[in-house]
Amino acid sequence: MRGFTTRALGGRREDLGDAAPVAPAIHPAATYAFEDPEVLADLIRRGKDVGYVYTRWHNPTRDLLERLMAELEGGERAVSFSSGMAAIVTTFAALAGSSDHVVASPSLYGGSFSTLSKLLPRWGVEVTFAESHRVDEMLAPVRPETKLVYTETIGNPTLQVPDLEALGSGCRERGVPLVVDNTFASPYLCRPLELGAAVVVHSTTKYLGGHSDLTGGIAVGDDELLHEVREMSVDLGGTANAWESWLTMRGIETLALRMDRHVENARALAGLLEGHPAVARVWYPGLPSHPDREVAERILRAPGGMISFELAGGLESGRRFQQSLEVALVGPSLGSTKTLVVHPPTVTHTQMTKEQREALGITDGFVRVSTGIEDAEDILEDFRQALEKA
Ligand code: PLP
Repeated sequence: MRGFTTRALGGRREDLGDAAPVAPAIHPAATYAFEDPEVLADLIRRGKDVGYVYTRWHNPTRDLLERLMAELEGGERAVSFSSGMAAIVTTFAALAGSSDHVVASPSLYGGSFSTLSKLLPRWGVEVTFAESHRVDEMLAPVRPETKLVYTETIGNPTLQVPDLEALGSGCRERGVPLVVDNTFASPYLCRPLELGAAVVVHSTTKYLGGHSDLTGGIAVGDDELLHEVREMSVDLGGTANAWESWLTMRGIETLALRMDRHVENARALAGLLEGHPAVARVWYPGLPSHPDREVAERILRAPGGMISFELAGGLESGRRFQQSLEVALVGPSLGSTKTLVVHPPTVTHTQMTKEQREALGITDGFVRVSTGIEDAEDILEDFRQALEKA
């Protein structure tokens, strides 16, 4: 098989006779016209997953993105969405319904946690939370009504790395699909489908788009499950548009290059934070102090660009630290070319109570960093001077 970037760059040519454009076309058409009305009637008879009829069902630019992501994640098929949350909620709705049961890690993006803890129970789905990096504890609640087990490759924001191989084989033995949010790792660092997951979801807003200039999501997996996801996506309507599908493909071309740089900068920054007197604790899967280091080494190509740390001085110290940053930007989201610093207790994890947050280690002094691709020394110097003022 060819290397990751070669595959990320290839296979999206259109046939224009003698010439082939090196960038794909953007097809904005919302609907399609037919010379022969019988052809249209036949497509409608065959269902929403066949042919170009209406863009909420299928769109040529979006289809290219879906084929590319299926290839990069090692899945049979993909369905793309207008946001990561649309991908996640639609996947849940496709796989679980009234009287069903779901097991999920509590160490998740706040929006996913609130969907699982509030929305799914309203739909009649019972959800049991169990930490995915303790594989036995996560598999224990699985029962005949369990329709999916859900985790993130690198948990948000405490960066746990569950053993997806063990979890995947446990789920397979029990006949339950393992659904993995691979946003923090990207298919360059981890391919959960090869480790035993049945479906992978992403917020393409993050590393795949890569430049904080689009919002999107995608689900990838086997043909049968993704057919269900596609049908549900047509009804729920959160499908991706052509322009953002195109931008996502452009981002993916440089994913590996950016990711290598994110990792290089994150390793250097984690080294600076660990042992700094203003810092009480650092979470980075590449540090020997990380509890899941061994699993991270086994299932990830590299430990990623995300770092979390706790400031010894708590909330006030966190405020001073953020106000003192000059290069890094203070704001939510991640996977951008620019370093982004966020305070999860007041921004990304407000859906949890203080008790729920603290049970997961998200204390008042907790800070999450999405390391960008700036020159490493500038980021290190910025953090040094801001930590001094923290
Ligand atoms: N999954 C993870 C791990 C995230 O961090 C986020 C957003 O921050 C999402 C999903 C939701 O993605 P979106 O904002 O594109 O809806």
